[in-house]
This record gives sequence, C-alpha cells and structure tokens, in this order.
Amino acid sequence: MALDLTKYIATVPDYPEKGIMFRDISPLMGDGAAYHQATDTIVNYARDKQVDMVVGPESRGFIVGCPVAYELGIGFAPARKKGKLPRKTIKADYALEYGTASLYMHEDAIKPGQRVLVTDDILATGGTIEATIKLVEQLGGVVVGCAFLLQLKDLHGLDKLKDYDTLVLMDY
Ligand code: IMP
Repeated sequence: MALDLTKYIATVPDYPEKGIMFRDISPLMGDGAAYHQATDTIVNYARDKQVDMVVGPESRGFIVGCPVAYELGIGFAPARKKGKLPRKTIKADYALEYGTASLYMHEDAIKPGQRVLVTDDILATGGTIEATIKLVEQLGGVVVGCAFLLQLKDLHGLDKLKDYDTLVLMDY
C-alpha cells in the first residue's frame, strides 16, 4: 500500500521568520519507506524521460536527486552556492526576497545534448530552479523534466516552468 507522503512533511509556523509557514521535509527523509517511495516515483518519471544526468541545487536538491541518479546508474551534478566548486565554473543569478543570489556549476559538469532531470525538495517562487535550468542550458544540456517533493502553490512557481515537463509529488 502506498504511503500518504503528506504525513511525513512537518509544518513549522513562523520559521525562519514570523508569518512564514516552513515545510520541513526531514521526517520524509528520516523514514526509509517514505524516502524510498518518493525516490521511486521520481526514478520512474526519469526512466520514462530517458534521463542521462541529474542536476540539483544546493543543498536539498542533492537529497532528492542523488538517490535517483544512483538507482538509474547515471551521474549527478550539483549546482552550488558561491565559493564551493574548486574548478572553472559558470554562474546564474536569481532573485531573493531581498536582493539576489547566484548558483554555479563546473563548466564540464554536463555534456552538450545530455538529457537532464533537475530536482529540488520544494518549488516556491521558482527562482532557484530557474537558475539551475539556466546553468544546464548554458552547458548545452536539455532539461527533459523537473521533479519536486512539493510545491507551495500560492507562490506560482510552476508559471516559471511552463516550457518544461514537471513532476510534483505534493501540493501545499
Ligand atoms: P524558490 O527559489 O522561491 O522556488 O525557493 C525554493 C528553494 O527554497 C528550495 O531550494 C527550497 O529548499 C527552499 N524553500 C522554500 N520554501 C521552503 C520551505 O517552506 N521549507 C523548506 N525549504 C524551502
């Protein structure tokens, strides 16, 4: 019997600031069966899309994407924050509530033409995943799918992903 994965998402009011409802995925990751079920669903999606590389933004994009890559026997490439990657990188900027931030990838992380799945835990405004997609495309990768454990519907992140196929396991 399939588990109801929403039972493994904790909601923390007023974190990290007053007025924010923080969705915490750590109970899902902390439960072997729930983590396995979520991962398997994304693995099946990636298999259908004939993905040959997984890319996720720091840091919870790794938690979602790495087990998918492992199960499929394909590679995983991280999109990281400033100062974390030791070799030559490319960069993409994105908007935060106050100011901007950047994500980086090694310039040889993706081979041109590779079919890429991008993963993250939560889709909120979509800025993080949009920057990740930009990096993949700058490197010549083809984003064939985007997978998230959950989306915060009120923030309309999917509007930024209209041109991409998307899998969202839970709506909040
Ligand atoms: P976006 O760029 O606005 O779509 O925000 C998505 C990023 O912020 C993801 O990498 C999430 O890990 C993080 N994030 C946004 N909202 C939450 C939340 O409620 N709980 C945990 N992480 C969040």
